[in-house]
Amino acid sequence: MSKAFAGHPCCYRCTLPLSHCCCLSIALAPSSLCWTLLTHPREYLRLDNTGKLAKVVLRSGCQRIRWQRQMPPLQLPQPSYLIFPNETGQPPLTLEQIPSPAGINLIVLDATWQEARKMLRQSTWLQRLPRLQLMPEQLSQFRLRRHQQAGHLCTIEAMALAHLQWSEPIQSAALLKQLDRFQHHYQAWQSGHPPVNNADAS
Ligand SMILES: [Zn+2]
Repeated sequence: MSKAFAGHPCCYRCTLPLSHCCCLSIALAPSSLCWTLLTHPREYLRLDNTGKLAKVVLRSGCQRIRWQRQMPPLQLPQPSYLIFPNETGQPPLTLEQIPSPAGINLIVLDATWQEARKMLRQSTWLQRLPRLQLMPEQLSQFRLRRHQQAGHLCTIEAMALAHLQWSEPIQSAALLKQLDRFQHHYQAWQSGHPPVNNADAS
């Protein structure tokens, strides 16, 4: 089943036009971590969203829910931690302070950074959640959106880093590989070229 995007029939998983779908030989990597992507309504309409890719790779370990301003979604597992830098106030926890993520739900705000800050500002229930901060050592490799700030990772990169730090390198690599493949296919489609890249061959 596919849906149309800008007149092109699209893949229901990666949402790219079918001619440039990046789901062939996708590396599935079920995880022991529990993720909830709280997705901004506008993000569902963006072709370059990366949260949907994480859900495809991690399968049942990742749920994607539309953000609701006033209350947490009913299906939100507890306890939940919000992965987001604390830009003011108390310093958040780092991943090292939680030796094992078993039994906790990790929330990522699936939105632009500007929207994510707004989501947090508008949702008191989100503000009350304990917060975890990622400490990326590398710059983001996400190149599909302009005006990215240094140190800001896209959704799937943030999840890959968490997997790496919690001893799940296979899942981390699978997420980054899917992001790489997606970006190649996306840019090939935009420039009118066939989707050929090194990530497909590996
Ligand atoms: Zn696809």
